[in-house]
Amino acid sequence: MKRCLLLFAVGALLLAAGCGAAPANRVAAANTNSTTMKFPLQRTEAEWRKLLTPEQYHVLREAGTERPFTGKYWNTKEPGIYRCAACGEILFKSDDKFDSHCGWPSFSEIAAQKKVIAREDDSHGMKRTEVLCANCGSHLGHVFDDGPAPTGLRYCINSTSIDFAATNTVTEKK
Ligand SMILES: [Zn+2]
Repeated sequence: MKRCLLLFAVGALLLAAGCGAAPANRVAAANTNSTTMKFPLQRTEAEWRKLLTPEQYHVLREAGTERPFTGKYWNTKEPGIYRCAACGEILFKSDDKFDSHCGWPSFSEIAAQKKVIAREDDSHGMKRTEVLCANCGSHLGHVFDDGPAPTGLRYCINSTSIDFAATNTVTEKK
């Protein structure tokens, strides 16, 4: 309860599940006003437009959402890592990817603490928790509290927002 109050005090958002929700431990708290958020990697929107494809720009910089079952990674099961498509930061690992049947790549955990930032999102008439890259502030997707144990989280991420790199196949010597 104390943790919960503290997070409210700093303007962080929590999932609707309330004090029992795990994200407070997992996701860095964020100011809900995006215009005041400062990220380590700063680029102007003009720079992002040059660096990203129109589709990437729409999803990453305008919080767009790809249609379910259309992204390149929703059914990827290969071992590897997933980087932010905008800045290259490692955000997710295949070990934490699970089949959520929702049509988007789903992860139960982030690659390391504070890799992403959660922010309240009231758009489209829904109360959701948006997930941003903590390094560059780009939109990744949303996090829900209906994921598998032990985290109970489901990071529902746009394929457009991430780049997969397969783990180098190392010959096993016995
Ligand atoms: Zn990034």
